[in-house]
Amino acid sequence: MEQRTVVRCAEGHVFSTAAFPMQHLQVGRLGPGRLLRCPRCGRLRSSVPADVSELTADELARGLRLVAVESLA
Ligand SMILES: [Zn+2]
Repeated sequence: MEQRTVVRCAEGHVFSTAAFPMQHLQVGRLGPGRLLRCPRCGRLRSSVPADVSELTADELARGLRLVAVESLA
């Protein structure tokens, strides 16, 4: 199964992407984020991996259904 990362855009929307380079994001260092086209904003937003433990099951399920298209940024 395709592995996705749940991320949060600068506006607080939760969505998911297959494009986030998690291998570079070690525990304790979330990094500067990455420009992704948020499906909720419809715009490129700086997005960071969401802290899944802080999401409700509903937010998580919704985020997994909203998949961002990888940007070339
Ligand atoms: Zn957004």
